[in-house]
Amino acid sequence: MKFKQIIQRLFAFKKQSPASPQNKIPADKSEKMQKVMAMLANTQEVELTCDEVFAVLDQFVEMAARGEDVSQLMPLIQQHLDMCEDCREEYKILESIVQSAT
Ligand SMILES: [Zn+2]
Repeated sequence: MKFKQIIQRLFAFKKQSPASPQNKIPADKSEKMQKVMAMLANTQEVELTCDEVFAVLDQFVEMAARGEDVSQLMPLIQQHLDMCEDCREEYKILESIVQSAT
């Protein structure tokens, strides 16, 4: 009985054909996309470059070490540190220096 085989082939072909557009993006990819979108939503109009952050980072660390509310006083630095791994590393280094100095 070849008829059954033909039906099965047709069915298999149908399964392989492109799905509807919203199924094209795999779940993990759309999740990453959402994270990127969330990151973009968090960025404010004014953004600092790494150089600008480096320039005031020691000051920022000293203020934080004094217990000042740096996220209120220097929100842009805080915001940059939240997003930039390089500057966060630098911040941690400076922080450990400041803490060992006091
Ligand atoms: Zn940076």
